Amino acid sequence: MAQPPPDVAEDDCLPEYRHLFCPDLLRDKVAFITGGGSGIGFRIAEIFMRHGCHTVIASRSLLRVSTAAKKLTTATGQRCLPLSIDVRAPATIMAAVDQALKDFNKIDILVNCAAGNFLCPASTLSFNAFRTVMEIDTIGTFNVSRVLYEKFFQDHGGVIVNITATLGNRGQVLQVHAGSAKAAVDAMTRHLAVEWGPQNIRVNSLAPGPISGTEGFRRLGGPQAIMSTQVLGSPLQRLGNKTEVAHSALYLASPLASYVTGTVLVVDGGVWLTAANNIKRLADFELFSAKL
Ligand code: NAP
Repeated sequence: MAQPPPDVAEDDCLPEYRHLFCPDLLRDKVAFITGGGSGIGFRIAEIFMRHGCHTVIASRSLLRVSTAAKKLTTATGQRCLPLSIDVRAPATIMAAVDQALKDFNKIDILVNCAAGNFLCPASTLSFNAFRTVMEIDTIGTFNVSRVLYEKFFQDHGGVIVNITATLGNRGQVLQVHAGSAKAAVDAMTRHLAVEWGPQNIRVNSLAPGPISGTEGFRRLGGPQAIMSTQVLGSPLQRLGNKTEVAHSALYLASPLASYVTGTVLVVDGGVWLTAANNIKRLADFELFSAKL
């Protein structure tokens, strides 16, 4: 079986990289990546840039995306424009897309990767917490897609990759907010693929499983989860890494996937097929909360 490609845990570029796809697969393309300053979004930006793409990376913290952009440009030699946006605020997205179009004259690819998540039982999840996750993950994905459509894709075509999750496929304890939000994005992927296909816009979801070296995994899994029965009992018996997710995003964004739209590419080593409902975790969580 092929070994996974190497990765590093931090938000740093890979010290070395061996191309599996053609190095100019995305030559002179421009990708707009929300949440591109950290974790999976950062690695997607890096792998796209290593295949000839220029990027715009956008999130709330300008410091975070500016620091990331310097690393990405140094490692790849491609241009990377860092911009501050809040995906919940359409005015900030419009300003960022205008700036990106001014700098690059075009945007070919949108990756909706921005998200927020935490563990919480449904019974104690505040109304505000549920709404916030829906606003960032679901409404944020719509907002950015809608702005990109209006400002560029409707006249030039484009590719959208929505980063979702498998949480809602079978339901999972402590995750009603994120599971609901990502399931709605998968539905949105199909709606937009159908409605915007005639404008030559492909729209797909990419649903990662547990991915090492990410904030999401640190918050949801923690260090002990690396050896958890959930991971060891899954078909590939290991965590995924950010480069593996980025390679799948590269495929979806590239001409290799020219006839692929409206689908969800699950990149989880088969975890969701075999993961048991972790009801003990719910009980532990409630016990812990009761002690506070
Ligand atoms: P991460 O590093 O925390 O990335 C989330 C990014 O979203 C951050 O860069 C954050 O930057 C940005 N963001 C959050 N709220 C925002 C807002 N309102 N507006 C604009 N940007 C915002 O997390 P990750 O673990 O790599 O996850 C990346 C994606 O993969 C997410 O969509 C997540 O749901 C999905 N995923 C991850 C895993 C995993 O194992 N890690 C598994 C399944 C799915 P700022 O704070 O600067 O805004």
